[in-house]
Amino acid sequence: MNACRYSENLVAFLDEELREQERADFQSHLSNCQSCGETIDQQRSLGAALASLPTVDPSPGFETRFWARIAREDQAAEQRREQGFWARAGWRGWLVGLTTAAVAAGAVMLALRSPGPELDPDFALVADAEQFELLADADIELLEVMEILEAWDGQEI
Ligand SMILES: [Zn+2]
Repeated sequence: MNACRYSENLVAFLDEELREQERADFQSHLSNCQSCGETIDQQRSLGAALASLPTVDPSPGFETRFWARIAREDQAAEQRREQGFWARAGWRGWLVGLTTAAVAAGAVMLALRSPGPELDPDFALVADAEQFELLADADIELLEVMEILEAWDGQEI
């Protein structure tokens, strides 16, 4: 590895991506730094060797097969992630999941059984708007058109 602190500019220099001043600075550095000079020579030799390789034309239908394979790999990775979650969760994960579901179901049952507070119609309108993410987007003009802001007294919803 090149330990020189200028070495991070090597690739950008070879790719001609340095700005004019950076390029001039790096070139003057190259005349004094054996390490960077050797790395530049190696990279250029490698580039020339790669450029001398014959190009290969893909077989007919390569692109179709390529994208089909990408789609299959994506699907397989998604399945592995889903399976992996439950496999990692193990019996404790299932237990926690079932307990959470049971507690949530109990809370819903309690909420359904107890009479709720009378909702102010204006508050209900704001609650509906929030549900439809109108307030999250804070489209003031739309909210004004819907007369929601008139009902909103500035308190946290
Ligand atoms: Zn150097």
